[in-house]
Amino acid sequence: MRRSFPERLDRISELLSSSSSIPTIYAITPTYARPVQKAELTRLANTFVSVPNFHWIIVEDAAERSELVSSLLEKSGLKYTQLNEPTPREDKLKPSDPNWLKPRGVLQRNKGLSWLRKNVDANRTDGVVYFADDDNVYDLELFKEMRSTKKVSVWPVGFAGYLRYERPIVKRGKVVGWFTYWKPERQFAIDMAGFAVNLKLFFDHPWAEFSRVNRGQMESYLLSSLGVTLNDLEPKADDCTKVLVWHTRTEAPNLTNEKKLKAAGKSGTDLNVEV
Ligand code: UDP
Ligand code: MN
Repeated sequence: MRRSFPERLDRISELLSSSSSIPTIYAITPTYARPVQKAELTRLANTFVSVPNFHWIIVEDAAERSELVSSLLEKSGLKYTQLNEPTPREDKLKPSDPNWLKPRGVLQRNKGLSWLRKNVDANRTDGVVYFADDDNVYDLELFKEMRSTKKVSVWPVGFAGYLRYERPIVKRGKVVGWFTYWKPERQFAIDMAGFAVNLKLFFDHPWAEFSRVNRGQMESYLLSSLGVTLNDLEPKADDCTKVLVWHTRTEAPNLTNEKKLKAAGKSGTDLNVEV
């Protein structure tokens, strides 16, 4: 359809006003330096630029904010906040540890929450908080689904819990339990990527945050400290029948030829080249 110039201007101003009246999605992403970090964050930025009213809160697991992350954020054109919060050495996973041993990203997500509590006025801003780990894959539809979250909305997560997917079990529009193999007795047997929370709830429960002690129960701990019950949950993605987010895990790249180059008396790749 062709529109005249004044019609197009009207359309643009309509779009602008509608996008500023929709709730802001605040995505909190913990991230840490490793060979694939830039690739992961680039994939996320490329997704998030297509989401209206989106604010990316990125929290580096580091003593200082890095140049790599600042310039990536700057270039992205996204609305963002760059924070940092180091994980104490004793809480870090060793390469030999199984990945379920210690929770990751806890202090970073909590840092993001305290930033929101200090910097956003929940009486003036409608918002939805989502914990978006840096290695997952997000369908743009997911953000449309979570935008209307009144309290807590939930949906399936692909590849979570060593299954094709985990999901809330929905009966007559209500969540009645969890489809999962691992610890189905958990109060909220859901992956981090499988829920979003209305911003106001974090102000109604000012102390609610993630805990380092609840191994594998981080999500349940947070949601119960927000006073949420099963009955409050809002099933999204067609009554939790569609997978719109995947708990992918990126394989660490094999860089063994770097050492071999040096062993052969040659220089390795140029460390000034950012990867
Ligand atoms: N993370 C972090 N510091 C670490 C390890 C992980 O900040 O030492 C972040 C990571 O970038 C991701 C989140 O915490 O955004 C969850 O980590 P990961 O994806 O490794 O956990 P999994 O998916 O296996 O639960
Ligand atoms: Mn992950």
